[in-house]
Amino acid sequence: MPEQDLIRLSQSHLNLLNACPPRFQQVYLDCLGSLPKPSQQDNMQWGSRFHLLMQQRELTLPIEALLATDAELDNSLKALIRAAPELEPDPNIWREAEHCRTFSLGNFLFTVIYDLLIAKTDRAIIFDWKTYRNPPPSKQLAKDWQTRLYLYVLAETSEYEPEQLQMTYWFVKSGQPKSKTFSYSQQQHQQNAQELIVLTANLARWLSNYQQLQTDLPHQPDCQQNCPYHHLFSAEDQTVNRHQELLKSIDEIEEIAI
Ligand code: SF4
Repeated sequence: MPEQDLIRLSQSHLNLLNACPPRFQQVYLDCLGSLPKPSQQDNMQWGSRFHLLMQQRELTLPIEALLATDAELDNSLKALIRAAPELEPDPNIWREAEHCRTFSLGNFLFTVIYDLLIAKTDRAIIFDWKTYRNPPPSKQLAKDWQTRLYLYVLAETSEYEPEQLQMTYWFVKSGQPKSKTFSYSQQQHQQNAQELIVLTANLARWLSNYQQLQTDLPHQPDCQQNCPYHHLFSAEDQTVNRHQELLKSIDEIEEIAI
C-alpha cells in the first residue's frame, strides 16, 4: 500500500485511544483539542532547547552559544553527563540522535523518534530525555505506549532479540537527574503485538463508522465509575446542548502525557 494511504499513529495517539476514545475523537478527528496553557509553554520551549542541545552535541556541532544564554540548560547538561557516563561518545559504538523508525500494521504507520539510540554488538539502548524533574511511577511508565511502542518497533525493525533491547528515560530539568530503565522480553513483545492488533482493528472500525455513519467513538467499558464526565454521554442526555457541554467539559480531561 502506498505510504500516503497509511494513517500515521504515534505513542500519543495510542495512549489517548487506549484511555478515552471519545477524547481521541475530540482531539484528532473533530480537531477540538486545546492549546497548551501559557504556564506550560515555557516548559515546552525549554524542552525543545534541551533536545536541540543534545542533538547538536551528538552531531559534534557547537553548543556553547546555546549554553551561554541558559544557565539551567548548562547545569542540566553537566549534571546529566556526570550521572550517565554511558552518554559520552565512543567512536567504536554506533549511535544516533533523533533516530527515526517506522513500522506498518494494516492501514496504520507507526513512527517513533528516539532521542538517542546506541547500538552495540550485543544490545541496543533507546534514550529519551524528559525535561521535567520527577519521574512518574515505574508501573505507569512501563504501561505507557511510548515505552512499549519504542521497544516494539525496534524489535520489529532490527536484528536484535527483544531481550537485547532496553529503554532509559532521563529526567533532566535542574537538580540531580534521575533515570528509569526498562528491559524487554519476547513475552512483552507478543503482548504488545496483540494489543496493537486489537487497538488498530478497533480504530479502523470506529473510523469507518465515524466517517460513513457519523457515529461517535465509544467509551471504554471499564472507566465509567471514575469518569466525572460520563453522565454527559449517556443516551438520554444526547441533546445538542449536552453535546456542547460535553465538548467543553471533556476538554478538561488531562491527556496522558509523560
Ligand atoms: S468514561 Fe470518561 S474516561 Fe472513560 S471513555 Fe468515557 S469519557 Fe473517556
